[in-house]
Amino acid sequence: MKVLRNVEEALEFTKGNYQKSVGLVPTMGFLHAGHKSLIDEARKNNEIVVVSIFVNPTQFGPGEDYEAYPRDEERDFKLCEEAGVDAVFTPDPKEFYQNHKTYVTIEDLKDNLCGKTRPIHFRGVLTVLTKLFHIFKPTNAYFGRKDAQQFLIVKKAVEDLNFGINIVPCPIKREEDGLAISSRNVYLSEEERKAAPILHKALEKGRAAIKKGMKAEDLIKIIVDEIKTEKLSDIEYVQVVDTKEIKDVDVIDGDVLVALAVRFGKTRLIDNFFYEVWDV
Ligand code: AMP
Repeated sequence: MKVLRNVEEALEFTKGNYQKSVGLVPTMGFLHAGHKSLIDEARKNNEIVVVSIFVNPTQFGPGEDYEAYPRDEERDFKLCEEAGVDAVFTPDPKEFYQNHKTYVTIEDLKDNLCGKTRPIHFRGVLTVLTKLFHIFKPTNAYFGRKDAQQFLIVKKAVEDLNFGINIVPCPIKREEDGLAISSRNVYLSEEERKAAPILHKALEKGRAAIKKGMKAEDLIKIIVDEIKTEKLSDIEYVQVVDTKEIKDVDVIDGDVLVALAVRFGKTRLIDNFFYEVWDV
């Protein structure tokens, strides 16, 4: 497995693999079973698999957890090596963004859900991905449905800007008690960790109740009431949006994303499910 520490080395790697199919798995490291499932999917369908491990400063707002974000390079490299990854890309943030002036953003889709409290987040995400896409020229790029708004935004941006990359969504990996696996779960205290599976429980209650023609507010109430049974929870949002514009819907009559962000102490967790009216 090659370890690429700067753009020059990465471009050299890309040149050497010209005409091979490349699967890219962008991550911020501290890898877990969720990331591993993306890597495994990439390994199945590409000649070359590249994992980027980069805590991207441009997607963190002031006062967010950029400095505190967990990092463990040795463990990450081992997981990648064992998963058959061909190269990991882990650039130095200062060098990667040296005298940087150019950003990629998206209209409208960035403004709802997580974008309401993280206004520069998706600009940072699209900027780093644009750089990664240009550097590695992947055939396929793999994204978890856990970050549902990110997935929808990336898919739209890739279409709009004609990147010609296939964006592959992957299912959410969960702990045994239902909590969506996240690098940020290590921030949770023992008590908060015990409380956090309420999010999945609440979403499952919502999933059981959802049906075509239902008012979104009735669905939201079911989910919110369930979450509130956990005293440690502090809801940022529970919303039902359409999957094209990411706008709130009144009535469920097309494909929707049911998404939430909830804090437990200082830790902000997200989770969601997609509901496809036409599939049921
Ligand atoms: P991150 O390192 O948190 O930026 O995540 C990198 C990629 O892994 C993103 O596409 C995430 O959606 C995906 N991912 C993170 N956690 C999970 C999970 N529990 N299940 C599936 N994909 C995940």
